[in-house]
Amino acid sequence: MNFNKQTADVVIIGGGVIGLSIARALALRGAGEICLIERAGIGHEASFAAAGMLAPQAEANARDDFFTLACRSRDLYANFAESLRAETGIDIELDTTGTLYLALSYHDLVEIEKRFAWQSAAGLDVEKLTPPQVCELEPNVNQNVLGALRFPLDVQVENRRLLSALTNSVAKLGVEIITETSVESVKSESDRVRGVQTSRGFIACGKVIVAAGTWSGFISVGQTSASKPVLKIEPVRGQMISLDARPQLTRHVIYSPRGYIVPRQDGRLLAGSTSEYAGFAKHVTAGGISAILVNAQEISPAVSNLPIVDTWAGLRPRAPDNLPVLGPCDEIGGLFYATGHYRNGILLAPVTGELIAEAVVDGVVSPLLGPFSPNRFDLVRV
Ligand SMILES: Cc1cc2nc3c(=O)[nH]c(=O)nc-3n(C[C@H](O)[C@H](O)[C@H](O)COP(=O)(O)OP(=O)(O)OC[C@H]3O[C@@H](n4cnc5c(N)ncnc54)[C@H](O)[C@@H]3O)c2cc1C
Repeated sequence: MNFNKQTADVVIIGGGVIGLSIARALALRGAGEICLIERAGIGHEASFAAAGMLAPQAEANARDDFFTLACRSRDLYANFAESLRAETGIDIELDTTGTLYLALSYHDLVEIEKRFAWQSAAGLDVEKLTPPQVCELEPNVNQNVLGALRFPLDVQVENRRLLSALTNSVAKLGVEIITETSVESVKSESDRVRGVQTSRGFIACGKVIVAAGTWSGFISVGQTSASKPVLKIEPVRGQMISLDARPQLTRHVIYSPRGYIVPRQDGRLLAGSTSEYAGFAKHVTAGGISAILVNAQEISPAVSNLPIVDTWAGLRPRAPDNLPVLGPCDEIGGLFYATGHYRNGILLAPVTGELIAEAVVDGVVSPLLGPFSPNRFDLVRV
């Protein structure tokens, strides 16, 4: 393929759910000529590996800035799904059955009591269930369950269909997608972005968004090829198993403190996951798979009879403080980061797209983004 691209108004680096959501939001705001550059194929990394849970309440221990951002994004999903369906005809299978969080030991019970106490005091939608209520709602869960919380607003989406819908949407909106092309560096002059150096040539542009997931820290910024960014994004490997569960064992997404199971409309039951510091190695391991199966069977012993149809692993992008890195970089005009989404990139995709597009096009940085600014790190040494 010839590489003819020489200029753009905005370049997005990375074709995962975050880069795609930003591309779509920018195009809808009329950001001009938008070019998304992906090193390999679109949506093959963490965004493909995810479980698709949109569950800010299930694991939250306090109402903090992250919780507020995550709930905002979850609440954008109904419109997001509807608009994507209207634009592309693709149903992203937003399943609003809700999420259960099981207590299977007395320690678990203490934890869910605390979560119920703060969330109900804060006026959030959460229900406490007795063991008979849990078993009536989901007859295939562990009959030794000691109690559960039900989060009716914590839902799930089919993240692979979401990637297809977003890819289709941005193509229709006129975003240029360049695959099999790696961005090596962002070039700047007089503290302003001038373009990106790719593996296939230079593209001049005034605005760049780094949305390269766990590889975001490898993209250097500055005047020379020796310039180095110091944004530290670390890969945290998560392994997953897909089982054939027809008819489905459960209707809800079901968590325990040790694992989760996610029923999909097509009869797959996803079971996850691990959190491992294994560098960029993306294989599944015997230990990882066996731990996931133990935890899934603890949630529902019936899992032990299901055929395993697939296994995979993905790399969650984690910043040093576990929080996303979102917004403009103070040191270089025109440079924006949207990375470090760690365990919640599918959940945070709609809000990331909207707020980054607003910052890029209108120059308005929402107060919601403040706590996640890239400027909290010592980012760029030019
Ligand atoms: C097992 C597992 C389960 C998960 N479950 C959930 C869940 O239930 N809910 C949830 O909200 N989140 C979940 N996550 C987290 C979620 O998947 C991530 O936070 C999210 O996918 C991050 O999206 P991204 O676009 O930043 O990264 P990615 O999807 O990794 O995309 C980054 C892209 O950038 C490209 N790239 C990298 N470097 C360059 C370069 N130099 N030039 C060009 N392109 C480049 C890569 O090839 C890649 O395609 C899960 C993750 C895992 C691994």
